[in-house]
Amino acid sequence: MGDRTFVGDVNGLPKTVGGGAVHADMKYPRFQDWDFHLASELGDVPDANFADWPLTYDELEPFYSEVEQLVGVQGLDGADPFQPKRSRPYPMPPGVPMYVSLLAADGAQKAGYHAFPYPTAINSRPYGGRPPCVDCGFCSGYGCPNNSKGSPAVTFLRDALLTHLRKDTYKLDAQGKLDTASIAEGARPVVEKAVNKDNVIGVAVSMDPPKINAASSAMFARLGCIGVVEDDDKKAAKKKK
Ligand SMILES: Cc1cc2nc3c(=O)[nH]c(=O)nc-3n(C[C@H](O)[C@H](O)[C@H](O)COP(=O)(O)OP(=O)(O)OC[C@H]3O[C@@H](n4cnc5c(N)ncnc54)[C@H](O)[C@@H]3O)c2cc1C
Ligand code: SF4
Repeated sequence: MGDRTFVGDVNGLPKTVGGGAVHADMKYPRFQDWDFHLASELGDVPDANFADWPLTYDELEPFYSEVEQLVGVQGLDGADPFQPKRSRPYPMPPGVPMYVSLLAADGAQKAGYHAFPYPTAINSRPYGGRPPCVDCGFCSGYGCPNNSKGSPAVTFLRDALLTHLRKDTYKLDAQGKLDTASIAEGARPVVEKAVNKDNVIGVAVSMDPPKINAASSAMFARLGCIGVVEDDDKKAAKKKK
């Protein structure tokens, strides 16, 4: 871990209920089929550490589909010439395009490109008990005052609060290894379902989760490949000494 240790300012935007997605602009693409076997595609690339995923796009597709339905994603089926295989259409059509994006799309078209409305987890219609976007334009870097942006705060967490039921449970054994796991399935009613612990993958995306995982004495802390960042409280404590 030593070489990867970073001490310094870390973006504090994700530190809120709902995490980074509250401030994200919520582009919601899927990986391409070839993203799952990049190591095989690209071979040995100097100074890079590509690895093939242990699963394929086809295996993951039903989960992409489920999440799109739960969160609410707008998009135009078939508009992306490279669109990977989909088992279900987007839950919503795209919203009204902005003037500037129409101009950009027109220019791109003339240059031989295929501009298309990007899949986005923002309501273009009433969906999941939340209203459609009103195009106020304060998406990226700001929370949505309208709750149209499908962040976990207004989707999964809201469902959890409304049902008092939606929770995934991970129990650790005395050695801090994963012992049993159960996940909540469906929106309403939620059903708790035991899952094979060997199929549980801990994913630390950006900023805070790697930090939490590194700080945790259990489960994910045993992974040697995550960097360590120091949070503001620790820095302040050090300065006082
Ligand atoms: C401005 C912006 C634009 C973005 N745009 C996009 C986009 O268009 N498309 C896209 O796919 N991604 C985008 N992202 C990235 C995306 O939002 C994040 O990758 C994603 O939200 C990470 O999710 P996560 O659940 O892994 O972690 P996070 O959302 O970071 O959740 C971590 C949670 O842990 C909590 N926490 C931190 N420390 C502790 C602690 N000690 N104890 C308990 N809880 C703690 C935090 O408060 C937070 O709620 C954007 C991000 C930002 C900031
Ligand atoms: S209502 Fe405003 S902040 Fe919310 S999604 Fe639409 S443009 Fe973004």
